[in-house]
Amino acid sequence: MKSNVCVLGAGRMGSSIVRTLLDQGYPTSVWNRTAAKSEPLAALGAKVAASVEDGVGAAEVVIVNVLDYAASKTLLRSDNVASALSGKAIIQLTSGSPRLAREEARWVEARGAGYLDGAIMATPDFVGKPETTLLYSGSREVYDRYKPLLLALGGGTSYVGEVPGQASALDTALLTQMWGGLFGTLQGMAVAEAEGLDLLTFRGHLAAFKPVVDAALFDVVDRTKAHRFAGDEATLASLGAHYSAFRHLLEACEERGLSAAMPRAMDQIFQKALSLGSGTDDFASLFPLFQNGSVRQERKPAHA
Ligand code: NAD
Repeated sequence: MKSNVCVLGAGRMGSSIVRTLLDQGYPTSVWNRTAAKSEPLAALGAKVAASVEDGVGAAEVVIVNVLDYAASKTLLRSDNVASALSGKAIIQLTSGSPRLAREEARWVEARGAGYLDGAIMATPDFVGKPETTLLYSGSREVYDRYKPLLLALGGGTSYVGEVPGQASALDTALLTQMWGGLFGTLQGMAVAEAEGLDLLTFRGHLAAFKPVVDAALFDVVDRTKAHRFAGDEATLASLGAHYSAFRHLLEACEERGLSAAMPRAMDQIFQKALSLGSGTDDFASLFPLFQNGSVRQERKPAHA
């Protein structure tokens, strides 16, 4: 027997969640601030809840997917709704920070409900696909009990840990990596275009270069995990070699009048590390600068 689910929020993502649950045979009710957004879902078989309180009261599992945590709080914090939460599983799929997730977990659990905080690593069109990842942290018990339902939303669903903010932290970490790549792509296009290259040429070579870049990304994680910051025979490119190539980017920006805001920020990081350490170190040796602005303690003297 599939659990009754109530989805609070029928925006782009919430609607996709409701459609997926209905497709998978879950009895699903939906509530949205603007009732008209629930109508297409009602046509597919969703029950439209007259109020948040009604929707929550009739459900075993409540999925929240609204714009932000402030919106979510306005829905859950009313006395009537808060007192209806006891014994239910609350799955928060609204994007938020680790702090917000921790606070929400404390508040929900104090009302006698189980809490899972999720991060959706996909756009609405990917919800329900076998390859789609949703990250969860919080109650292991809720995760295990409702795993089939969670897998229905994305086959690549993963439990990150019991600390409620961890799914959100992993989401932010992964997006940080994405923004690095996206900003780098914008800067790279500016350089290519300034020298008369077609952006399709850039695109084609980006695809060819990607396996090399991906290998370097995983290498920097592995070396950091192992604290292998000094250059060694397995180092792919030393800090000095990176910096020597990087200076061409600064020169290209200057010569062609391109914005160099991002390269200048990167230059400061390179220069700080090189002034304190050695150009023979591995690229991973920059990591402590991102933790607390210092360099690793065990660094060799610059002349070594
Ligand atoms: P959307 O703008 O399409 O929908 C937002 C929903 O929030 C609407 O249903 C709206 O009625 C509701 N809402 C806003 N303010 C409210 C309030 N004060 N009280 C009650 N309801 C309120 O946005 P979306 O794309 O569906 O995103 C919803 C959540 O999912 C966000 O937290 C977003 O970050 C997250 N998310 C979205 C995507 C995506 O690709 N769209 C991907 C991952 C995560």
